[in-house]
Amino acid sequence: MEKKKLLIIGAGLSGLYSAVLLQERYEVTVLEARGRTGGRVMAMGGHDMGPSWVWGHQKNILQLIESLGLALFPQYTHGAALYDAPEGVQRFHPSSGVPSYRVKGGIVQIAAALEKRLHKAVHLNEKVLSLTESGEKIVVKTATGTYEADRVIVTLPPRLAAESLAYAPALPSALQRQLQEIPTWMGYAAKCVIEYPEAFWREEGLSGFAVSHLGPLSEIHDACTENKAALFGFVHTRANRANNEALEAQIITQLKRLYGIKAGEPSRIYLVDWKKEDCTSTPLDAMPLSAHPAYGFAATHFNDRLLFSGTESAFSEGGYLEGAVVSAVQAARSL
Ligand SMILES: Cc1cc2nc3c(=O)[nH]c(=O)nc-3n(C[C@H](O)[C@H](O)[C@H](O)COP(=O)(O)OP(=O)(O)OC[C@H]3O[C@@H](n4cnc5c(N)ncnc54)[C@H](O)[C@@H]3O)c2cc1C
Repeated sequence: MEKKKLLIIGAGLSGLYSAVLLQERYEVTVLEARGRTGGRVMAMGGHDMGPSWVWGHQKNILQLIESLGLALFPQYTHGAALYDAPEGVQRFHPSSGVPSYRVKGGIVQIAAALEKRLHKAVHLNEKVLSLTESGEKIVVKTATGTYEADRVIVTLPPRLAAESLAYAPALPSALQRQLQEIPTWMGYAAKCVIEYPEAFWREEGLSGFAVSHLGPLSEIHDACTENKAALFGFVHTRANRANNEALEAQIITQLKRLYGIKAGEPSRIYLVDWKKEDCTSTPLDAMPLSAHPAYGFAATHFNDRLLFSGTESAFSEGGYLEGAVVSAVQAARSL
């Protein structure tokens, strides 16, 4: 029997894993707006510019990582941490929290390994613009083409799904509002990786972890890979992000204050401002979140032929990589 056609919109972790789970039952096509897969999972120069960590209780992502033959290593936390206090930098030893783990070769390895398992390559640079119900089918238009499917899974962050896609018939106003009210996890974040010739902080008994209210980085961690020494930091919500060059200069000044003169000589700086990524964030995400939202929702349109998915839809660990995997499992079950 001929398989039904399923279109998956978005090749982030949720879209890619949904495709792997469903490709035996459906003829799956994945449409991705960017020229790369991964979505919020992204690397530059071998460094994680989106997510870095998974945690021991996140069974689904851990199982997936294992099944893909990828290896984990613990976040480097040996040594003292630093507090960037107004009266001067202070050393402290944080109480041992829940350990976090990184993926050897970077989180992008998960997306790459899933992509390899797909029967059909992801269609890149295919930004979906509109979805129209046509009898029992759904017609999906991108900037360059038209696709027809029996079922569609939209894995965009909910706000983006509500604001950047046109639906005919339109989304009921309650659903439109519901999706718009769900903040995009880390949609406000900016992450900076500062690469150095060597991990000098480790030699000085420092873990690389630092906390600051003075900025522009609010939280700094060791980000060394197998062959590169690096620190990474999240840009403080109060920092001025209008000009990357000026921001990078301020970051180096802060790192020199914290880690000393060697921090003033980075070999490379990578900065991704996720607020400016229009395939992730919407203007509604311009306000920083004060806490992790209570994610999890079930929403459909076009007589249940279109399903909204993605990490923010996950009823457990929504927002995280684990949530993206859970959302794919949820979607596969409900289809
Ligand atoms: C800076 C940062 C740090 C993070 N840190 C962590 C961490 O340490 N641990 C953790 O677990 N999680 C972390 N996260 C969250 C994690 O990245 C997400 O949970 C996960 O990647 C979401 O996957 P997703 O597939 O649901 O969504 P996305 O990755 O957002 O995928 C959606 C996809 O849809 C595509 N798309 C958008 N519009 C269109 C369109 N019109 N047509 C076609 N395609 C479109 C996008 O390009 C994207 O590929 C972090 C995120 C960021 C940004």
